[in-house]
Amino acid sequence: NQVITVKQLNKHFENNHALKSVDLSVQQSEMVALLGPSGSGKSTLLRHLNGLVSSDKNSKGYIEVLGMPVQRDGKFCNTVRKSRSQTGYIFQQFNLVSRLSVLQNVLIGALSATPSWRSLTGRFTFEQKRQALAALKRVGLEQFALQRVSTLSGGQQQRVAIARALMQRAKIILADEPIASLDPESSRIVMEILTDINKQEGIAVVVTLHQVDYAKRYCPRVVALKLGEVFYDGPSEQLNEAK
Ligand code: ADP
Ligand code: ADP
Repeated sequence: NQVITVKQLNKHFENNHALKSVDLSVQQSEMVALLGPSGSGKSTLLRHLNGLVSSDKNSKGYIEVLGMPVQRDGKFCNTVRKSRSQTGYIFQQFNLVSRLSVLQNVLIGALSATPSWRSLTGRFTFEQKRQALAALKRVGLEQFALQRVSTLSGGQQQRVAIARALMQRAKIILADEPIASLDPESSRIVMEILTDINKQEGIAVVVTLHQVDYAKRYCPRVVALKLGEVFYDGPSEQLNEAK
């Protein structure tokens, strides 16, 4: 069951060829590390998957996510909103609403899943609150539900972001450098939670990382980029031999 298809993706930023004929296929069961040094194109590729960037206009690129075309030859397809609503996005800097509580931040995930005027005004159903608490429990933070999210540590805030993706009922999680701002212990916990929801919930995870050791430890498959090109795609344990 293929959830991500990328074919011949090219992206220029003025004279900078940031992605060079990138091909990528990801199955529903997978946890994949996108590995590469800073500037290699990891986050540009990830943003394309969620329709945050469009590829070169005059080239033949194609992206499909969850069976829905996201963009074709540099033009967005009208299914991009639907595929985005089923895709959880995790950012290096968490992207939480700092003045809201932990629980309210998780409930924001419900807006992507089923937007309604009722929920936009912050009135959620009892059932939605129950689900948000369950998502918090899943990441081990239920005791912080009513605290302001800004009182939590970085690692805890990243776990709130993961709970928000669970609340969204995401089928895929795209995580852009989720541990780059975290200490080793928090990094370990965040990577373990991502591994766990990939295994238990069957959510596909694509995570950009710049440290080889984390990729090898947590991701069975590595796609390594160098200057916008895929130079390795295979089992993480064979990565060194390929280098
Ligand atoms: P990585 O995530 O691997 O650090 P990026 O995808 O952020 O790499 O960047 C790839 C290349 O594209 C870099 O050379 C970066 O400077 C360039 N780039 C990324 N975003 C933009 C942008 N919005 N405008 C111009 N250049 C960009
Ligand atoms: P990341 O850590 O996700 O790779 P960066 O710090 O490289 O992010 O970039 C942050 C923002 O700046 C992004 O929106 C990216 O698209 C943009 N950006 C990156 N490189 C350039 C560049 N050379 N010129 C203009 N914008 C850029």
